[in-house]
Amino acid sequence: MSLRIQDEIFLTGVGLDITERKEMENELKLHRERLEDLVERRTSELFAANQELSALNEEMTAMNEELSAINEDLSAANELLGNEVRLRQEKEEQLLLREKQYRAATRLLTQPVDAGGDPLDMILQDALQLLNAPAGYIGIFDEKRRVIERPYSQGPIHFDAMEPQRADTGMMGQVFRENRSVQVTDYRRYAERISDPRLERSTTIIMVPLLLGRQIRGLLAVHWLDEVHPLPSEDIEMLQQYSHLASVFLERREAQRQIRQLAFFDCLTGMGNRTSLNSWLEEELAQARQRGKSGVLFYLDLDELKVVNDTFGHSVGDALICSAGRRIQESFGEGAFCARIGGDEFVVALSGETDRGKAAEYADKLLAALDRGYETGNDRFHISASIGIVLYPEHGSTPDEVLKNADIAMYAAKASGRNCWRIYDPSLQQDAYEIMMLTNSLRRALEHQEFSLHFQPKIRLSDRRIEGFEALLRWNSVEFGPVPPGRFIPLAEKAGIIPAIGEWVLREACGFARRLSEAGWHDLRVAVNLSPRQLIAVNFPDIVGEILAETGIEPNRLGIEVTENILIEPMEDSIRKLADLRELGVEVALDDFGTGYSSLTYLRRLPVSILKIDKSFIDGILDDSAQAQYVGFIIDLAHALNLQVVAEGVEDAAQIDKLRELDCDAVQGFVFSRPLPEPAAIGLLRDWTE
Ligand code: C2E
Ligand code: MG
Ligand code: MG
Repeated sequence: MSLRIQDEIFLTGVGLDITERKEMENELKLHRERLEDLVERRTSELFAANQELSALNEEMTAMNEELSAINEDLSAANELLGNEVRLRQEKEEQLLLREKQYRAATRLLTQPVDAGGDPLDMILQDALQLLNAPAGYIGIFDEKRRVIERPYSQGPIHFDAMEPQRADTGMMGQVFRENRSVQVTDYRRYAERISDPRLERSTTIIMVPLLLGRQIRGLLAVHWLDEVHPLPSEDIEMLQQYSHLASVFLERREAQRQIRQLAFFDCLTGMGNRTSLNSWLEEELAQARQRGKSGVLFYLDLDELKVVNDTFGHSVGDALICSAGRRIQESFGEGAFCARIGGDEFVVALSGETDRGKAAEYADKLLAALDRGYETGNDRFHISASIGIVLYPEHGSTPDEVLKNADIAMYAAKASGRNCWRIYDPSLQQDAYEIMMLTNSLRRALEHQEFSLHFQPKIRLSDRRIEGFEALLRWNSVEFGPVPPGRFIPLAEKAGIIPAIGEWVLREACGFARRLSEAGWHDLRVAVNLSPRQLIAVNFPDIVGEILAETGIEPNRLGIEVTENILIEPMEDSIRKLADLRELGVEVALDDFGTGYSSLTYLRRLPVSILKIDKSFIDGILDDSAQAQYVGFIIDLAHALNLQVVAEGVEDAAQIDKLRELDCDAVQGFVFSRPLPEPAAIGLLRDWTE
């Protein structure tokens, strides 16, 4: 028999000798016992070991399980971590994109339209960069939305900035018709493909409309080249955002253009205005300082435009200004800077022109162009201009100085008879200074009693009797000596002192009439000249009434003379006031007839009873038969309208005969008498009636 204990083999056997056997038996027993003991021990040892082992095993599996659980956890965590990183990257990318868009947007929205770098160009660049696309453009439809221009294009599909294309063909036509984005996966197979060598390599194309309100104004197009490009919806969405941005910008640019238009351009003529003139001059004079640039500037004032406005209304005046503006621009051509800087004032500047002779030629040409006659509705007008010319920087180094001196030269042109030009000269400065001094002393002339009246008789032709006098104002200035009315009356009008002077004249003239009456001449009339400014006063007829009452003369002893430009807006108001005066008994005459507009059309509307034909018409009646005929015609017409006619400025006896022949009622002129101081006038009356 064999027993195997822990890899050791134990053997057992049996013998016959008893003693021996006994001994053997004992020994055997001993052995067995030892063996059993051993086995016992070994078994329990084994058991213990076994138990230990299985415990260990259990522990190991537990540990193993734990480990694998940990392992699982770990890989899950790993996976989680990976996801997180990816998400975070995506988020970061999105954020970056948003930031870029945001930057692009703020850059666009905070940048003034003309501050270097076109925002539409930047939008295109950004869009292409973000989509990683090689080419694209922004196109803008024209006003009538028939063609598209592509001023912004990038990549190999570069379009000539202003090369227009019909808006109703190809993909563009589809965008235009459907008013929404259109995309084509492969343009090479697109049915409505347009043959254009620039589009040969285009594959995937997307076009997004630019909308202003609901109207399509243009489009943003992106092209991929050579191979088809997948278009994820995020990309399309992003492009839409860009197109929106571009639309916002277009809108903003449009609004700014309108604001600019209002701020820098004259709305009547579309020319520049005073603001744009100033900034232009500022720039021009800066260049004059830095780089020796020079030029010539014309300052134009339309003569008598005010009268047209006042007599024919502002719409006629405006139409005239527009035609004048057009003629000015045409005379100078493209290269000139033109602006309208006031009601009837224009400025034209020619940068780089320095030749006085050339400047004079331009001015002559301009005067001729302006003088051609204007037609508005049924009326035909003649309007002339006075032009002041300055050379810069010679005559001024700041805009203020240039314009002030141009103004001085323009006034000099006006003073020398209008419809002409003057080049600035420092001596003109002297004139301007003189005007200022003269005006100053004019303000004090009334209180210093420097005024007086002279009287010129009016002689009736039928019986050669003096029917009355015209009172003519004289100023004998302490500082300047005698100043003719033609010089100081316009100054007094401009300085606003004519109403006070006019009232003085009225009072003095009425005083003269009273003294005449007291001396026995009861039927003589004294006429005074009235400035338009006086008639504007609300209570003018009352003023006259008061003076008449004060001086105690009959209203029909007073006459007033008005010129056509008395019909200041509101014309109806002036007519009513004159009618009121006439109602009082005051005689109203229309003075200087023939020098203004052909007032025959509205002559019948004026409450006048006398027509005074201007000296300039009378001068020619002896030598010019047409002139004589014309005067005869005016006289007949006046008679037909129940007006009496007085010829002014008659200097010659032969003229008297001619005027009698033409049936003129009365004459006034040096041929009978110059205007005389009161004592001399009374002396003349005495001689005359003797
Ligand atoms: P007017 O009312 O047409 O006056 C006639 C002008 O012709 C006067 O000039 C007179 O001296 C001048 N005259 C008269 N006969 C002859 C002649 O035969 N030959 C020439 N060469 N001239 C002649 P005056 O006094 O220099 O006045 C000029 C203008 O000043 C007047 O033209 C009138 O419009 C204005 N004026 C004169 N006094 C007053 C006034 O008190 N108030 C206003 N508002 N204007 C006045
Ligand atoms: Mg007069
Ligand atoms: Mg006159």
